Amino acid sequence: MQSFKIAKIMNIPIELHITFILLLILVYYFWGIGGFILYIFLFASVVLHELGHSYIAKKYGVHIEKILLLPIGGMAMMDKIPKEGEFKIAIAGPIVSIILGFIFYGISIFVDFNILKIGTITYPLFMTVGVLNFMLGLFNLLPAFPMDGGRVLRALISHKVGYLKATKIASTIGQYLSFIMLGFGIISLNIILILIALFIYYGASQEYNALLSYEVFNKIKAKDIMSKDIVAVSPDDSVKDLINLMFKYKYMGYPVVKDGNLIGSVSFDDITKVNENMLIKDIMSPPVVVSKNMDLNDLLHKINNSERVYVMENNKLEGLISKTDIIRTLKLLGLKHKI
Ligand code: ZN
Repeated sequence: MQSFKIAKIMNIPIELHITFILLLILVYYFWGIGGFILYIFLFASVVLHELGHSYIAKKYGVHIEKILLLPIGGMAMMDKIPKEGEFKIAIAGPIVSIILGFIFYGISIFVDFNILKIGTITYPLFMTVGVLNFMLGLFNLLPAFPMDGGRVLRALISHKVGYLKATKIASTIGQYLSFIMLGFGIISLNIILILIALFIYYGASQEYNALLSYEVFNKIKAKDIMSKDIVAVSPDDSVKDLINLMFKYKYMGYPVVKDGNLIGSVSFDDITKVNENMLIKDIMSPPVVVSKNMDLNDLLHKINNSERVYVMENNKLEGLISKTDIIRTLKLLGLKHKI
């Protein structure tokens, strides 16, 4: 989906999602310039909250791709968060929000502007931004996924009950919380509360399911899913030889082996646009090599950039894993899950 880069802070691109801009226009339409300014202050606060997470995450070597602003809030898109840094990374955001709450509230004691009036209630700018920051910080400290507090809770209890169980607990609390919010939302006919409840429910289940797959994938190794029937070609074979081999064996990719060493990889895609008298060594690409004990999580990562990987052990080619092998494994796991 479409988003626009508006700034770069601490080397992290800040992007506005198109729905965020649409909401900004709606706010201006309904609440005028006062609502517009309040909204900008609130979302600057959200950016600072995300930067709080990002600042600590960077110290743990986490790569942050970008901070994306959606109408429902901000999202710092990070690599996998290291378990030892989770507590500090998670709590940094709410701490920033609470500090901002104090700062804006403090300013409002000395100076403030009544910029927005809805019905009979007026909203002074700094005081409103201060209170909203307090709420943002405290709401995010609720010990439930997908809020920051869910991560805090997991970090605190996982050494006692284990990482998977801790995730399950924080997800379950998130789901109960969403039911309570949904109940209140329906009774008070508050559409925003209902939407937040659905968002929390989805986020809470998502977190647990992702971890569950991760744990399952962790137990599956390259040696369990590789094909051992390997037909190798020589770098001095011609493309014509390879085509004949493809008709015979029906495999789409072949390792290129010279004197017992794997030196390249050649596949159907490599031969579609070349002369059949060309030699394999002129069209082959470097092989992507993995170890026998690499798990499925890492394999998924590797296979994303190449069609097939070669499994090597002590300099010996032991097997081959293609995208098709991976897809088959994922399908079978899905089946196992149903049973
Ligand atoms: Zn946060």
